Amino acid sequence: MATDPGSAQTYVIITFDDAHESIYSTALPIMNEYEFKATNVINTGCIGGEDKLSWQEVEEFEFDYGWETAGHTLHHISMPNNPIEIVEYEIYQDWLNLQEHGLSHSTFALPGGNATEEHYEIILQYYENVRTSRDLCMHTPLDRKNLGYFSYHTDYTAEHAIARIIKAVEYNESIVVIGFHRILEDAMGHPRNCKPDDFRKIMKFIFENGFEVITIKEACEMLS
Ligand SMILES: [Zn+2]
Repeated sequence: MATDPGSAQTYVIITFDDAHESIYSTALPIMNEYEFKATNVINTGCIGGEDKLSWQEVEEFEFDYGWETAGHTLHHISMPNNPIEIVEYEIYQDWLNLQEHGLSHSTFALPGGNATEEHYEIILQYYENVRTSRDLCMHTPLDRKNLGYFSYHTDYTAEHAIARIIKAVEYNESIVVIGFHRILEDAMGHPRNCKPDDFRKIMKFIFENGFEVITIKEACEMLS
């Protein structure tokens, strides 16, 4: 369906937020089966913590498999609930950590989806692309400061994500961003878990329908 003559291509973007260890242990092997890459949205102040990815894993995603790494504040703070000096420090230090590890540092995802004008001004001193938490329709030219995403919830099945991709094709969207947080059999009360079988089904659908999977950075360079 992605290759219908006469209709523009819809690129699929996969994102993982918050650096849960299952992104490495469970998602990566499935992604590698299909040679898919993703945008890995991390809080650099939390890397190496309990249940979190290590720096070595974060670097492996990007250097061995071509993933993009993206900022998300040092400690996943709520920006509206913190003084502006803290917000500035959390954004800048996070960006600096990405840079110092030789990782991509051009995309930022709003933690919790909330930001004021003042926050945006700080973010845009460092980053070129901003992913929000709203599910927006996205056409060319992309508004790279205001990208949307479909966030996979624990009570969804693979069909929800597949339906969103089909809708993107029907609406001629140039990109559709499908976002995951953790890939575990048991959600353990977390609201944003995707079971491994559902994750595999979604990846299989993307592969079998010939979609090209790119990163946020690549999409913004190509389509904004
Ligand atoms: Zn997050």
